[in-house]
Amino acid sequence: MYFFDVDTQRDFMDIDGALYVPGAEKIRANIERLLRAASDKRITTISSRCAHESNDPEFELFPPHCIEGTPGAERIFPDLPYLPRHEIAVDEKAGPLAKIAPATHYVVKKKEFDLFSNAWLDGLRQRGAFKGEKCVVFGVATDYCVRACALGLAQAGARVFLVEDAIQGVAPETIEKAITEKRAAGVEFTTTDEVLKGLD
Ligand SMILES: [Zn+2]
Repeated sequence: MYFFDVDTQRDFMDIDGALYVPGAEKIRANIERLLRAASDKRITTISSRCAHESNDPEFELFPPHCIEGTPGAERIFPDLPYLPRHEIAVDEKAGPLAKIAPATHYVVKKKEFDLFSNAWLDGLRQRGAFKGEKCVVFGVATDYCVRACALGLAQAGARVFLVEDAIQGVAPETIEKAITEKRAAGVEFTTTDEVLKGLD
């Protein structure tokens, strides 16, 4: 099983963040519970993280956010999960021996909203690293990065579980569209309580 902790960074999660996702503070406690459970149960967790430069093309689509080196780019729970941590650079490639280790925390940096724009993560995905695996997805935003994560994993043959009380979206119309697309792709919906219960 893998946890995917999508873009839980201060610029998205904090009310005064540069690209605050309205209501994101409501899911904060559940995200913390999931990340603490990952520590306790030693679940490999992949945290995606925008790491932008000030002139990135994504800023034609979205206001500037998560500029590398600024507080807004930091994860809201920078120390969680408590597992050996590897940072994967934006341009890192998945070499022939690359694999996803057990009980490890990967922080995968990206410059586009799709976390599979990171070549290392996409390389592993294409190679079948997530095929048939249970992937529990949470974070922000339901209609952008979480959507890209859930659909990208479903396309790669993963069993995707979206934690509905640990995701938050930007706008009602795009959230509804994203939920419909995810259901059509076979994504299942769960809750933080259900996930935690399933780990005991
Ligand atoms: Zn971004």
